[in-house]
Amino acid sequence: VREGRVVAAGPEDDVRRAVTGTPDHRDAGGALVLPGWVDAHTHLLFAGTREDEFAMRAAGRSYAEIAAAGGGIHSSVRRFRETPDETILAGARRYLDQALALGTTTMEVKSGYGLSTDEELRALRLVKTLAGTHPVKIVPTFLGAHEIPRGVERAAYVRAVVEEMLPRVAAERLAEFCDVFCEQGVFTPEESARVLEAARALGLGLKLHADEFGDTGGSRLAARLGAVSADHLHATPLDAIRALAAAGVVGVLLPGTSFFLDLPAKARARDMVGEGLPVAVASDFNPGSCMSQSMPLMVSLACVQLRLSPAEALVAATANGAAALGRGSRVGHLRPGWEADFQILDLPRHALVPYHFGVSHVRAVFRDGRQVAGAPLAAAL
Ligand SMILES: [Zn+2]
Repeated sequence: VREGRVVAAGPEDDVRRAVTGTPDHRDAGGALVLPGWVDAHTHLLFAGTREDEFAMRAAGRSYAEIAAAGGGIHSSVRRFRETPDETILAGARRYLDQALALGTTTMEVKSGYGLSTDEELRALRLVKTLAGTHPVKIVPTFLGAHEIPRGVERAAYVRAVVEEMLPRVAAERLAEFCDVFCEQGVFTPEESARVLEAARALGLGLKLHADEFGDTGGSRLAARLGAVSADHLHATPLDAIRALAAAGVVGVLLPGTSFFLDLPAKARARDMVGEGLPVAVASDFNPGSCMSQSMPLMVSLACVQLRLSPAEALVAATANGAAALGRGSRVGHLRPGWEADFQILDLPRHALVPYHFGVSHVRAVFRDGRQVAGAPLAAAL
């Protein structure tokens, strides 16, 4: 590594030949070096937690029943609006520290618990503050169309997202991507298209929460609009998988959510790989449907529940996550010229990462060639 970039990677003799001068040389002692995780889908900026709902689900209530009883996204919206900036930032920093300690070096963070122009802008400004003050590289996404807020008529809310929020998000450069929760009972494909077309006209990249609970046309819309990614895809049929692959969309799979909610439908990852659709694996970290930002856990779940091979799951959680964030030629690979974001794990082989699950193997984490977590590594000749 030199000046924050990878110079060479591979067998030691090849690396020594490629590197001239006197590099800063540290010996990882035979440990495994992997790219830092690229977590391409999180809702990290939230206030409060919803362990009461978790207990209700353990007692047999469904996510939909809990939402109907006043829980769900609306309870997080209420708490977000009444919580001061500093409290929200302190929580978010702690969650980011935990992710970094588990090897995450790039994370997408969405707004979406504000659901008004002022509160959505506040959320994205807080994300910007985090991005400027935390070692995890943060990619901001505007998700004003996460839910229709209580007491607002749906057409009026869609209009507010398109006519008030998006122009200000773009003018203040607060987000790289725009996302919409396209689902039965949330936003229809037509409403989603309206929001995403407006976002595209303002220069934002497009993402979509698609087919999480049912095949409602979200993935076909992502294909038609040429979105960067379509996320969840638990209920996506084969013809829509083919449409996504043909359109060059990345499928972002969130196995932590199907695990946490015990959803019967699992994303058809083997069909996706077979059809040539690049799949990423991300956490979906949020207080309702996946209260974990552990990427090693997501990699294990991707192998166990989605039948990805260990190698496929590792690529999905690094290089393909980067592609889902428009950073496929910057992070997620240890390749000359790429940003030197990597983790050193106390394991001899990559296949052990998903296999030995539920504990951390991370010894050290580096961002742009500088160590940002773990015990200091001694310099060596
Ligand atoms: Zn999500």
